Amino acid sequence: DTITVRDLTEKIGKSASEIIKKLFLLGNMATINSEIDFDTAQLVCSDFEITLERKQEQTAEAALVAEDFDDAEENLQPRPPVVTIMGHVDHGKTSLLDYIRKSRVTAGEAGGITQHIGAYTVDVDGRKITFLDTPGHEAFTAMRARGTQATDIAVLVVAADDSVMPQTVESINHAKAAEVPVIVAINKMDKPDANPDRVKQDLTQYGLVCEDWGGETICVPVSAVTGQGVDDLLEMILLQADMLQLQANPNRLGKGVIIEAKLDKARGPLATVLLQNGTLHVGDSIIAGLASGKVRALINDKGERVSEAGPSMPVEIMGFDDVPSAGDEMIAVGDDHLSRQVADERREKIKASREATMAKMSMENLFSSIEAGKVTTLNLIIKADVQGSVEAVKQAMEKLSNDEVKIRVLHSAAGAITKDDVNLASAFNAIIIGFNIRPDASAREAAEKQKVDVRMYTVIYKAIEDMELAMKGMLEPEY
Ligand code: GDP
Repeated sequence: DTITVRDLTEKIGKSASEIIKKLFLLGNMATINSEIDFDTAQLVCSDFEITLERKQEQTAEAALVAEDFDDAEENLQPRPPVVTIMGHVDHGKTSLLDYIRKSRVTAGEAGGITQHIGAYTVDVDGRKITFLDTPGHEAFTAMRARGTQATDIAVLVVAADDSVMPQTVESINHAKAAEVPVIVAINKMDKPDANPDRVKQDLTQYGLVCEDWGGETICVPVSAVTGQGVDDLLEMILLQADMLQLQANPNRLGKGVIIEAKLDKARGPLATVLLQNGTLHVGDSIIAGLASGKVRALINDKGERVSEAGPSMPVEIMGFDDVPSAGDEMIAVGDDHLSRQVADERREKIKASREATMAKMSMENLFSSIEAGKVTTLNLIIKADVQGSVEAVKQAMEKLSNDEVKIRVLHSAAGAITKDDVNLASAFNAIIIGFNIRPDASAREAAEKQKVDVRMYTVIYKAIEDMELAMKGMLEPEY
C-alpha cells in the first residue's frame, strides 16, 4: 500500500513543498507525483504530529457478508417444507423414505428411475415436500453444530411393535434442541403385534402427547410396507408446514446448505445443495466452505439436468473446484473473483489456526509450560469403563494439584472417548485420560487432527505416576 505525495497533501492538509522538504530530509528525493510507502508516510506525518492509520483491510469474506441482505416482506413467497426422518434403528426410516419416493413418482418420470443425491422432492396434491434421505440424526446434528438448520419438520418414526427405544429418545432431544416441530409416524401398523397405544403412552414421558390423547403432537399410524396411512402423513406434513408459514425469496442469488458431497472420477467434485433461499442457476459463481467455482451443470433428484433450482429444492452441482463438506453453507455470488478470494482467505485462515493448534498442551510439554509460567491450571477430561473408576481417577488426579499447578477435571464420565470429548479438550486445551477404554475411530482421528493428547491406562497408579512425572518434566514421550 502506497500513496502519492499529492494524495498525502490532501489527506493531512499540508502543502506539497512542506512534505517534499520532510522527505528530502529523510533522504527521499520525491516529487509531487512520487509514490511513498506507508512507513515513510507515517514518518513524515509524525514530524507534523499527525498519526497516520492504515485503513482496515477489506476482506473478501467481509464483502460477502456485506452482499447479504434481509428480504423485504413483499418479495417473500411460500416455499416447500424440508423434512428429516428420525428414529430408532430398524423402526423403518429407510423403508418409509423409499415408500414415499416410489409411490409419488409420476407417470412422466422415466420409469421411476431416480438418482440418490441426498434428498428428494415429492408432489402431494400439487404441492411439494422435500425429504432429506440420509435418515438418522447424524446429518442433522452435523449441520446444527455448524449453525445451519436445514430441517423444518422432523418425522419421528416409532415401530408400533417395539415402541420408544434409546435412539427414539435421542431423536426427540435433538429435535427439541433444534426447536423443530415433530410429527410422529407410528410405523409397522400391519404387524399383528402392533400396539400404537403403548407408543403413545411411552411418548408422553418425553413431552410428546398425541392429539387424540389431548396433546398437540400430530401422530399418524402408518405402514411402510403396505403404505397404509402414508398419504395421511404427507397431508399432516403439509398442514404443519402451513402453520410454520415457510417463506423465501426466489428472486435473489441462491443460498443453501451442502447436504452431500463426493469426488466423482469422471465428473469431478459433486455436491448436493439444499436451496434455502433464492434461485441457483447454471453459470452462477459459488462458494461453499473451502470450495469455489462456477455452476457447470445442475442435476435434480430425478437425474435430469435442470437450468435452475429454487427455494427448498435439492440439486446436485457440478463445477466446484474442490469437494465441500456436508453442512457447509453455499452462497452464489455476483462476482467471479469474490468466490475465489473468499475460498483462498478461508484456506489461509485454516492454515494459520492449524499452526496455532500445533502448540497444544501435552503431557510432555507440561513441565516447560509450568516453568514458563504459561500454565497454572491443567485441564483434564477423564473417561473410564465404569463410574467407580471415573471417580477414583478423578480424585487421584485432583490430589496432585500443587502450588504451581492446579489440576482441574473439566468433564468426567463412564464410556468411550468420543469426538465430543476431543472437541472439548481442544477448546479448553485439556488432556484426555482414558481408563480401561479406548477412543473410537472418529475420536482418534479428531485427536490426531486437533493435536489433543490422549493417554490410555489400565491401572490407576500408572496414571498417577505419569502425571507426577509430567509435572516434573520427566515423562518420556509416548510413541
Ligand atoms: P431403519 O433402520 O429405521 O431405516 O429401518 P428399515 O427401513 O431398514 O426397516 C427395518 C426392517 O423393518 C426392515 O426389515 C423392513 O422391511 C421392516 N419394516 C419397515 N417398515 C415396516 C412396516 O411398516 N411393516 C413391516 N411389517 N415391516 C417393516
